[in-house]
Amino acid sequence: MQSIQHLIDGATYVGSAGRTTNVYNPATGEASAELALASVEEVDLAVASAQAAFETWGKTSLARRTKLMYAFRNLVEANAAEIAKRLTAEHGKVLSDAMGEVARGLENIEYACGIAETLKGSYNESASTGVDVYSVRQPLGVVAGITPFNFPAMVPLWMIPNAVACGNTFVLKPSERDPSAPLFMAELFQEAGFPPGVLNVVQGDKVAVDRLLDHPDVKAASFVGSSPIAKYVAERATANGKRFQALGGAKNHMVVLPDADLDLAADAAVSAAYGSAGERCMAISVVAAVGAIADPLIEAIKVRMDKLIIGDGTNPDSEMGPLITLEARDRTAGYIGGAVEQGATVVVDGRDQNFDNDGFFIGVSLIDNVTTDMDCYKDEIFGPVLSVVRCDSYQQGVELIKNNPWGNGAAIFTQNGGAARQFQEDADAGMVGINVPVPVPVGYHSFGGWKDSLFGDTTMYGPEGVKFYTKAKVITSRWPDPATSRVDLGFPTNE
Ligand code: NAD
Repeated sequence: MQSIQHLIDGATYVGSAGRTTNVYNPATGEASAELALASVEEVDLAVASAQAAFETWGKTSLARRTKLMYAFRNLVEANAAEIAKRLTAEHGKVLSDAMGEVARGLENIEYACGIAETLKGSYNESASTGVDVYSVRQPLGVVAGITPFNFPAMVPLWMIPNAVACGNTFVLKPSERDPSAPLFMAELFQEAGFPPGVLNVVQGDKVAVDRLLDHPDVKAASFVGSSPIAKYVAERATANGKRFQALGGAKNHMVVLPDADLDLAADAAVSAAYGSAGERCMAISVVAAVGAIADPLIEAIKVRMDKLIIGDGTNPDSEMGPLITLEARDRTAGYIGGAVEQGATVVVDGRDQNFDNDGFFIGVSLIDNVTTDMDCYKDEIFGPVLSVVRCDSYQQGVELIKNNPWGNGAAIFTQNGGAARQFQEDADAGMVGINVPVPVPVGYHSFGGWKDSLFGDTTMYGPEGVKFYTKAKVITSRWPDPATSRVDLGFPTNE
């Protein structure tokens, strides 16, 4: 079986901690690789390499940083198909979706290519006589990234390009479920010409995460994952005096008003609920169907579900792949059983679909008459299950979102501009879609939810990313005013 190792100081580092875990191909259920899990000492090696690299990288010119970032961008684009292949092999998402993930990650590299513009400071001349005041932003030092399984290429790219372009060095701890794509991207990063140690990858689990959060030379931690771990990271980083970004889980609602374009709403619900097998933090989990649109909408969704092709992500015909693990599949199945017991109406039961192999597959499910006390409503399932809550009014849909503990994304489908505008104000979530079900911001805005979807107040990438990865410095300088005192420049002037 293939073994997957760390990347420290610009080269493969073969782990000797004696701890490993298996990586699986979710489409076959077979273990495809053995992954080294880092010890505390191995994390320390990676941090030491990053710390040493920072001494020169932090002072490297913007021109050179930009040139290398462009080279990295071009290599990622040229190797997009290979990255996508690795994503599909370990995550299970279909190849077209994996290519989409790489494309969204590229946006973040492209944003970082503009670092000379985004890092511009500000300057006030003559704040007082002979006194100028100006602000600059400087890098922090070594920063760490801890990423989830569901976007193994894109989420590291939410962090690394901006962090490195700002002059920091980076230690990435990818998800242990699908580590090959981020490792391959780190190899491309070396190929682009970045000095050794600017980006290190430690494979690992809680041991590595805890060490990164405790290490005195790690100045900041960026985390994306489930809410309980995001909260834990936020608390541990804070206790250690580090700045952090901690993005958590989600339960995203799509309010469909009676005047919505039915086909548009049904297409959106299906792609946003079942795309990537529902394993997206911006997936739609709940449709709040307002008034008379509920019945036709459910019927239109069902028609589309019946046509969905579920299979191995490497098959170009497949539109949805398997779940990440056997446990995730069984957990998802449990929620459908629970919904039946708790009185919901299962319109389509994903457990009914048979798959003739040992992959972690489950069919798509649609549950009607869901109420807020049911487990399928209360928990983040992170599987291909869509719940429908029937609402009497727009206000009831808005209240659902407000009372839900998460607040990542929220969407409305309507043809009424006034209602849409009202919703953008009312929606209690960090990212809002208007006739857009998955409103993931482009790379030049920032990504982050509200409530239990974000701990602390720092969102990710775009302008917020640049702010997070730099510290502000304000300089106040006084020089003699030439109008009132002569300056001896020490060499002849024209006067
Ligand atoms: P997870 O929280 O289980 O793991 C995330 C990372 O934390 C991994 O690198 C993992 O190794 C590490 N980790 C896990 N348990 C840990 C522990 N006890 N101590 C320290 N570190 C630990 O999340 P996941 O299952 O990989 O990803 C799915 C979750 O991520 C979902 O909840 C999803 O909504 C969320 N997510 C959120 C966003 C967002 O932007 N808000 C984006 C993607 C995924």
